[in-house]
Amino acid sequence: MNNLLKPNQATPVCDTDKMELVSKGSLSKFDMNEILNCMHCGFCLPACPTYRQMGMEFASPRGRIALMKGVAKEELAVDAEFEHHMNLCLGCRACETACPAGVPYGSLVETAREMVEDQKRDSAKPSVMKTVVFDKLFKNPQRFKQLGTALWAAQSVGLQTLADKTGLIKVLPRPMAEMQKAVDKIASPIARKKREPVMKSGQANALKIGFFSGCIMDVMFFETNQATASLLQKAGCDVLFVQEQVCCGALHAHAGEKDGAIELAKRNIEAFEQAEVDFIVNNAGGCGSALKEYHHWFHDQPEWQQRAMNFVAKMRDANELLAELPPLTFSKRIEAKVTYQDSCHLAHGQGVRNQPRQLIQRIPGVEYIEMNDADSCCGSAGIYNITNYEMSMDILDDKMKQVEQTKAHYIVTTNPGCLLQMKNGIIRAGLQGKMEAMHVMDLLARAL
Ligand code: SF4
Ligand code: SF4
Repeated sequence: MNNLLKPNQATPVCDTDKMELVSKGSLSKFDMNEILNCMHCGFCLPACPTYRQMGMEFASPRGRIALMKGVAKEELAVDAEFEHHMNLCLGCRACETACPAGVPYGSLVETAREMVEDQKRDSAKPSVMKTVVFDKLFKNPQRFKQLGTALWAAQSVGLQTLADKTGLIKVLPRPMAEMQKAVDKIASPIARKKREPVMKSGQANALKIGFFSGCIMDVMFFETNQATASLLQKAGCDVLFVQEQVCCGALHAHAGEKDGAIELAKRNIEAFEQAEVDFIVNNAGGCGSALKEYHHWFHDQPEWQQRAMNFVAKMRDANELLAELPPLTFSKRIEAKVTYQDSCHLAHGQGVRNQPRQLIQRIPGVEYIEMNDADSCCGSAGIYNITNYEMSMDILDDKMKQVEQTKAHYIVTTNPGCLLQMKNGIIRAGLQGKMEAMHVMDLLARAL
């Protein structure tokens, strides 16, 4: 069987034979078996960006797992210090790739953050972040579109430039003021309205693709989504924009808002079931990693877990699918040096590393340069570059030294957060005019 047609391996994670070692009555949500898999070898330490920056055990995966173990054994409290150490982690999962014992660090840190949020729910009012961002914005696609329209209007009347020139931008918190400089012109509401709900390839027996457009991706990088759909269409697929889809829930899950993540996952599973597609495709590594792990979120709901497994079996990153379909015909040459920054959640979360590199190298004229440490996090990590600005920028500045060494004209990546971070990195490194950051799909579409 062609790899493309093989369903993803989505196996249940609620193995009933797993011994739950947490004492009865404990409030811990950790699976002690997962924690005890860590044999303290330290192989993960050199792979961890926060350990590399700080050189302290508490900033390493092994150190964080030791803290989780303390909480699971009720020797440590879920307090502000525990929260600080868990939140300093990027959630990049480079430690999972490095770990010989298969410790599922990503799910452990999500559980740790869920316990922190549970604790806060019990003791305090919900935060503004939870009420405004997680509940009101990310659960409502309409509000995201309105936000997109407001951003487009501000850009169109020059508010962004004016605020920059007059210094008004300084009233914004520094992370946001810096990040807004990296935001390109976003698509107009009219351009967004013109999108065809189905893009037909015109081929008999075309694969039917349900395109997962994402929330941030579809507002900030609408053109990249259109480029991805065009590439799939050119590769012989019928592409359907499933209207009822919502945010993937990744940001909720990473922030410990598990109930919100599960609610969004259910809405997506239902939407794509009704669309009856052959594959579900997305182009954002962070979203894709969450979408491919939906079945892990339903360990106590067997019916939903089965539906999630069916969903996961159809999930593909756009690079994966395009690398397996008959090669695209490019009509233009791109005479340029190109390097690639892995999206952590595409490389470490989904194991997709070769396909984007293969696709880039198929473009006529491109000279591909592999970058040192390409799969090490750029410091974006969802909203980490806002919540942990200093650490994020230290990691980014180190990353840009590696980027600069390649002397590439294009640094390409596969996730909206990484893309914005790379654009910001180019500004910080003074490389404007010499280097451009772009999504892999945009580079491929440029050569069609
Ligand atoms: S997820 Fe990344 S930052 Fe967090 S412990 Fe693992 S390697 Fe370090
Ligand atoms: S590599 Fe794996 S087993 Fe070794 S210390 Fe890190 S998490 Fe533990």
